[in-house]
Amino acid sequence: MTLHQTPHLTPVPAPGPTPLLSIEDLVVQYRRPGAEPTRAVAGVSLEVRAGEVVGLVGESGCGKSTLARAVCGLTPAKEGTIAFDGTPVTPLRVRRRDPELTRVQMVFQDPYGSLNPRRRVGTQIADGIRTAAGRGEGPDGATPEDFLTRVGLSAGDAGRYPQEFSGGQRQRIAIARALAARPRLLVGDEPISALDASAQSQVATLMRSLAVESGAGLLFISHDLSVVRLIADRIAVMYLGRIVETGPTAEVWANPRHPYTRALLAAIPQPDGAGRLPAELPGDVPDPAAPPSGCRFHPRCPLAFDGCDREDPHLIAGVACRLYTAA
Ligand code: ADP
Repeated sequence: MTLHQTPHLTPVPAPGPTPLLSIEDLVVQYRRPGAEPTRAVAGVSLEVRAGEVVGLVGESGCGKSTLARAVCGLTPAKEGTIAFDGTPVTPLRVRRRDPELTRVQMVFQDPYGSLNPRRRVGTQIADGIRTAAGRGEGPDGATPEDFLTRVGLSAGDAGRYPQEFSGGQRQRIAIARALAARPRLLVGDEPISALDASAQSQVATLMRSLAVESGAGLLFISHDLSVVRLIADRIAVMYLGRIVETGPTAEVWANPRHPYTRALLAAIPQPDGAGRLPAELPGDVPDPAAPPSGCRFHPRCPLAFDGCDREDPHLIAGVACRLYTAA
């Protein structure tokens, strides 16, 4: 599948009543000596349900990785809550290595760095199987070879080393290792951005089908809306530490409302070389240690009007923009 084709998504089971992942008013900040703290995540609420694929998109520096790391307990929350399966993810549970938290598995951007070059891939996937066993899940006889086959590699690859594989194949191995731990939630933090274009859509669609098949949720993070659109049921657009728009993928794609979402869409190159919409996004993401007043997007917004530099819009009916709320 190429990035310009209409996606053919696997059917999604009806969302369950309790969200698998529930993030409420999350704030995550970094401290540097002598400097203002950087609020990389500045009040985010987001849910992922079992069997649902949520795509989190935004330019580099918007706080997507920080959010992913907080979900996995790798970076502590300053304020707000993260609950997995109805139970808060607390620093204590993380410190004590609560086995339940291994039901959240992360696939990172760099398939070179995330695998150990000195261990055979089968041994590394066996680590995932042991993680599931550590939660008391009885062995069902699944082997590393089985997981390799599920990600489109061959059973014979188990005895080989990571450097014998391409980037896309290594990412499949990382996915096999994550799957072997029987996650209920998979978090992909830019899992395709280091891959070439053809491997990108293959790995993204593979992650979707494996998550949906196993009934897990998938939080798929990418700066590339054209890839997220192929696999996500729902999209959340992040800008400077906040969610600025969220909704079902088809709706956001067909009718982007926030000027930032429109700009992200406009930036997607089309097969004929032209942009999708006639709009340009000037400048870079500002420093989150000193965010702009009012709406954080207003200095770059082509549609900013009186008051956008003073009033900070809330997310209302899926969009945080005064165009839709100002009288
Ligand atoms: P994204 O994943 O969207 O590119 P990140 O979460 O990596 O965004 O970064 C969000 C902001 O937090 C950026 O301004 C980045 O410079 C800052 N940041 C990320 N990690 C750290 C860190 N360890 N220490 C200080 N600042 C950080």
